[in-house]
Amino acid sequence: MPELPEVETTVNGLRTDLLGRSIVGVRVLWEKAIDRPPPPDFASRLSGQRITSLGRRGKFLLFHLEGGDTLIIHLRMTGHLGVMTPAEPLPAHVRLVFTLDDGRELRFRDMRKFGRAYLVADAREVLGNLGPEPLGDDFTAEVLRARLGKRGAPIKSILLDQRVVAGIGNIYADEALFYAGIHPKRPGRSLAAAEAERLRAAIRRVLTEAIADGGTSLDSYRRPDGSRGQHAERIAIFRKAGSPCPHCGTPIVRIVLGGRSTHFCPHCQT
Ligand SMILES: [Zn+2]
Repeated sequence: MPELPEVETTVNGLRTDLLGRSIVGVRVLWEKAIDRPPPPDFASRLSGQRITSLGRRGKFLLFHLEGGDTLIIHLRMTGHLGVMTPAEPLPAHVRLVFTLDDGRELRFRDMRKFGRAYLVADAREVLGNLGPEPLGDDFTAEVLRARLGKRGAPIKSILLDQRVVAGIGNIYADEALFYAGIHPKRPGRSLAAAEAERLRAAIRRVLTEAIADGGTSLDSYRRPDGSRGQHAERIAIFRKAGSPCPHCGTPIVRIVLGGRSTHFCPHCQT
């Protein structure tokens, strides 16, 4: 499912097509794709609004609108956004269609139906609880360690908590812990300062490399133009149970932690 690098890739892929365009109409094919306001208000408030900038916060896509509102979309498990002409047949599972002033359409497709759209005057009501951006200057080892605090939960589970740090999901949590040499079951509070620094550096490394590769297309994720992200070829351990660790050759182990599939090298990660 899309994590920070996939959302960043989606935003970057949409920017040229959407920047400066106005939304002239909204077709709602599945009402529950809209979190707020109620669908009729969502459609009428969006109509005529020009997109002045696009951005990302954690795993949320942000479309800033001229009137001051922000359209926020979370792709969740299988959401996808792409710009197409009306002549292109509507694919299966399209939930929302935003018609643009150049006649083209921004289509929100979502097979599993967990994705959500929000139209808000103040983005903080949706984004307010998110932790720091892991690629931002304020994400220091001290900040990470302070946020781990006295938490006794496994570090893997803590990394998935968007209030601790925003944008990391299952793939990049496993990859970052591998590069940091930290066992996923370690209690958050047990990380020493040097380990927090290694983890911070590993998080930034895996996210930066994945963005450069256009994200990881292991499952349904595709870029806005439908192409695959290339980072799967550089994945070290995620979903590689039984394969040799790229550092030491020990077979990668898979466990379930907090209900999530978790992969690690029992030799390199302590
Ligand atoms: Zn190893």
